[in-house]
Amino acid sequence: MKAEIVATGTELLLGETLNTSAHYLTGKLSSVGIEVDYHTTVGDNPERLEQVLRQAIGRTDLVVTTGGLGPTVDDLTKELVAKVLDLKLELDPLSLEQLKQFFARRKAPMPKNNEKQVYFPKGAKILPNPIGTAPGAIIEKNGKTVIILPGPPFEMRPMFDTYAWPELQRIIGPHTERMNERVLKVFGMGESAIEEVLGELMNLPDITMALLAKRAEMHIRLVARSTETTSREAGDSLDRAEKEIRRRLGDKVFGRDQETMIGIIGQRLIDKQLTIATAESCTGGLLGAALTQEPGSSVFYLGGVVSYSNSVKQGVLGVSEENLQKFGAVSEEVAKEMAEGARSKVGSDLAISTTGIAGPDGGSEQKPVGLVYIGLATPEGVHAKKFQFYGERESVRQLTVQAALNEVRQYISNSERRL
Ligand code: ATP
Ligand code: MG
Repeated sequence: MKAEIVATGTELLLGETLNTSAHYLTGKLSSVGIEVDYHTTVGDNPERLEQVLRQAIGRTDLVVTTGGLGPTVDDLTKELVAKVLDLKLELDPLSLEQLKQFFARRKAPMPKNNEKQVYFPKGAKILPNPIGTAPGAIIEKNGKTVIILPGPPFEMRPMFDTYAWPELQRIIGPHTERMNERVLKVFGMGESAIEEVLGELMNLPDITMALLAKRAEMHIRLVARSTETTSREAGDSLDRAEKEIRRRLGDKVFGRDQETMIGIIGQRLIDKQLTIATAESCTGGLLGAALTQEPGSSVFYLGGVVSYSNSVKQGVLGVSEENLQKFGAVSEEVAKEMAEGARSKVGSDLAISTTGIAGPDGGSEQKPVGLVYIGLATPEGVHAKKFQFYGERESVRQLTVQAALNEVRQYISNSERRL
């Protein structure tokens, strides 16, 4: 089954809004083996939208549109889909009732324009909109399917997941090929190093493997194709491949699928009943932000110090004047003192520190941009590690955060091994 995603909205062509919906929907469709052949973006212009819809319906089996369901005159998606499919628009009484209730709950009169939102191409299945005023629709005609979704992503996503997805499952049926995906997440190894270690595994007959470089981690994406009836075998192939990859890459693999570095560390800290503090220089609070990203982080994260200046490093964290003079703020010694200082000031089990040269200025021959020290203070002592990152300021800072979290992860796995 081939699909096209048609995003409508002049704001998408002006560079004001990023077309995140195409990204979201493509991921969903690919996961069930639907090949998305085209992404088309068109402004709120009736002639061009009609032309795009005609072309999309002509060249693919499934067209998914987003946007243009609003009450204003430039919102024309349903009208033009009806025209292209040669269907009349009809009022849906249930949707009209729900629309009236929507305004009644807000104690506001319903503008006359909104009535347009409850007209649909004849024979359409209505997709309710629990959040906004515009329902969507799904229309099947002559072996073609058109799914019409609203523009705002926070309305589009729940409508697609809750109401369009089951319909789509029915349409593709149990014998259509689907893609069973697994993603292994790696930190601390580049693309070519991974490729070298994986070698012949990259070309397994039953699995397609791809390496994707993300900002601060690498993803190994495994896909096994199957139908609904052979999905067990596909799952087994993925398990075998995952096991072998983990054997070769060891603890460079930190997680899979939905797992995140911070989610994993948070869970480990909670399991071990360990608390942590931060002392940040070049990351300026990003590490604290990462550690507090998930709800429930107050169980393990006690707090931290953003010690950007030497005076705060000395005054608050107790870093020695002597080390700052002798080795400089970006040094192993200072990273260690920062971590120790945070640990004793905050009274946590662990403390992690970052100090480095994020750039673009401030680098020298001995200390180039991207040089970072990460300190870790634990009940067993303190150590610091040197890193050399490459890239622009934001990348260096993000990589530092990820490397710092990875230090914590490795400390916990090593202490598990010691026990
Ligand atoms: P409305 O009732 O808000 O007019 P609509 O269905 O007509 O809804 P649009 O007017 O096309 O939708 O878009 C509404 C808003 O949703 C846009 O201003 C934009 O911020 C966001 N949006 C629309 N399409 C996309 C998209 N493809 N990706 C991300 N955001 C989008
Ligand atoms: Mg609109």
